[in-house]
Amino acid sequence: MPYYIAVGSLLVECNHFGGIPTDLESFQRTQYLMGEDLLALKDGTLGGYFEVLCKPDAGFEIVPTLAATACPGGLVTDQAYEHIKKTILAAISAARQDGKLDAVLLALHGSAASESHCDLEGDLLAAVRSLVGQATPVVATLDLHAHITQDMVEHADVLIAWETYPHRDARETGMRGAQAIQDILSGALTPAMAMGVAPVLVGAINGTTDGTGPFAATMQMAKRMETGINVYSTSAFLVHPYLDAPEMGGGGLVVTNGDQNLADRLAGEIAEFYWAQRFDLEPELFGIDQAIELGLTNQGPVVLVETADCCGGGAAGDSVQLLPSLIELGKDTPSVIPVVDREAAAQCHAAGVGAKLQLQIGHRHDPKWGVPMLVDAEVLNLTDGCFIYEGGIWDGCEGNMGPAAVVKVAGVHVCLASFPTYEWCGEQYPSLGIDVSQMKFIIAKNPMNYRMAFQDCSQCFMVLDTRGPTPATCKNLPYTQKVRPAFPWDVEVKNPVRIMS
Ligand SMILES: [Zn+2]
Repeated sequence: MPYYIAVGSLLVECNHFGGIPTDLESFQRTQYLMGEDLLALKDGTLGGYFEVLCKPDAGFEIVPTLAATACPGGLVTDQAYEHIKKTILAAISAARQDGKLDAVLLALHGSAASESHCDLEGDLLAAVRSLVGQATPVVATLDLHAHITQDMVEHADVLIAWETYPHRDARETGMRGAQAIQDILSGALTPAMAMGVAPVLVGAINGTTDGTGPFAATMQMAKRMETGINVYSTSAFLVHPYLDAPEMGGGGLVVTNGDQNLADRLAGEIAEFYWAQRFDLEPELFGIDQAIELGLTNQGPVVLVETADCCGGGAAGDSVQLLPSLIELGKDTPSVIPVVDREAAAQCHAAGVGAKLQLQIGHRHDPKWGVPMLVDAEVLNLTDGCFIYEGGIWDGCEGNMGPAAVVKVAGVHVCLASFPTYEWCGEQYPSLGIDVSQMKFIIAKNPMNYRMAFQDCSQCFMVLDTRGPTPATCKNLPYTQKVRPAFPWDVEVKNPVRIMS
């Protein structure tokens, strides 16, 4: 008799401060697969699951539930979440009634939120647990930007997170999650789990796991513990700080083989170490005009990082805050900026290549952060907005900006997309006919991946202090939940680390 493993995913990172609501269509546009289509997945976290579980003679049979992935955005609508949850639970319930359910394995992000649930994954895991009972193992894999909650720790047997940022190890993490299922079912692992949380709310600018930075050091410290006796797995977290949920923080999660005290102690040690890194996690920032003036004195292309409008962090990607200064100070220096604006893109498609027209652009989808700008534009290129990711968690997958246009406004090439898309290595630009190496200023709207995308053409990166739902510093975000005491507001906190188990 094989072991039957219910497999599914709900992968989206949400933003409480802005972004476009994440509805069912947002998932359908990115990934929404069931049955044979789900089972055919070769890449990503689920590809990793199947590599382990579908080996000949491994003795597992997959029960497909639902694989749902969307680009980060605003809150998941209640309608979309309830539909997805119901679909996953119905498939698990049907398998259970047929006597074909031995474990549940889910690929989750960890920082999703719906209109009604600020801890979406905690709610989903609690629902799964209440359906399958305590005796059926439930394992979930997560992004290292997860917001780990008591419900998540309580209702999963094992949580395992990605180890890399920029994220490159979705598949490997999937394999580790599947291995955990295998080890529990074989009796080799009796998991005891704990999460240590330190109240640090910082953007991801200094959050790489490559090299020697503060989060890299935290990850390496956590990973060294994996060699210890009875330690099954360790994960380090830099929480996605753009949720507005109580008691958020980063730190470490430890799974041991049956030793709760050890899990508690090691999780606390990782969180203490992470807390000690807090000052190095806050980035150095530049004002817009200051950065452009400095950039003009620099030879070669300059990357201006407007992380406050990061689609990969849930923002709408529709900011034009830099445009007036780029036109005014940059004169006719060639620059490129991505802007999500469905209506402006549609107007360009109606007008055609070569048309000159007046356009109202920007701040249309999430108008809280600025006002649209009226510009004289020339349409240089029109595309269907499709491109292929080359690497990362979506390697080989198609990205879809929807109808897209490149317009020239003074010296600035404005890339207009209809929908936000995650930025990995700048794949959007070649698809639009843009050669970034020919630009003086490249506006990057992400806190990390710009390094990979533009390192071949630029040595000069400046992170901007701009307004938006994914800013470089969290200092000015209007949190309403009990997030304090926490860094960066409270630089010293008595007993900062909290343990959940
Ligand atoms: Zn992440």
